[in-house]
Amino acid sequence: MIPDVKLEAPLGASRVLLHTCCAPCSSAIVECLVRNGITPVIFYSNDNIYPREEFDKRENECLRYAGSLGLEVVEDPYDHARWLPLAAGLEAAPERGARCLECFRYRLLRAARYASAHGFAVLATTLASSRWKDLEQVNQAGAWACAQVQGVTWWDRNWRKEGLQERRGEIIREMNFYNQPYCGCEFSIRKDTDK
Ligand code: SF4
Repeated sequence: MIPDVKLEAPLGASRVLLHTCCAPCSSAIVECLVRNGITPVIFYSNDNIYPREEFDKRENECLRYAGSLGLEVVEDPYDHARWLPLAAGLEAAPERGARCLECFRYRLLRAARYASAHGFAVLATTLASSRWKDLEQVNQAGAWACAQVQGVTWWDRNWRKEGLQERRGEIIREMNFYNQPYCGCEFSIRKDTDK
């Protein structure tokens, strides 16, 4: 069932840059934005993912979902070597720990820079939709990233409430999205069954 969620973006924006980690996490958020007359431009930027084949699989699923809704996708070119230094010394940190906070900051800073350079006043992320992620960490990273650039406001909404978590599961089944066996980086392989 599609939840009847009423949304208002910060500043009354009708278009937002939506950093997107994967199709499953974007599913209900994207649908909800569109139903509220807010156009999300999908920013797929995930240098954390290892290996390359996994990045491509997840990106292709994002492209498939966005294509089904006629939405624009901005593809940030993959460079895992650029991401890897932030994990130095944090390889053994658990999920929701210090490495993940750095990972969120890294990805959301790339998104905030893109937003600032391309006239987006509002930035949000699908990272906030997964119950395996620490919402506080995600919002802390997003606010920090937006504070590093000019003219971009962080949208710190909780995307797991008002039936959106349940709707996420329905869309995943309807779209038959690829079932991701781990969070993304090499340090999370076989350590979780997220998403
Ligand atoms: S476990 Fe996930 S969020 Fe944490 S550092 Fe790895 S890819 Fe990033």
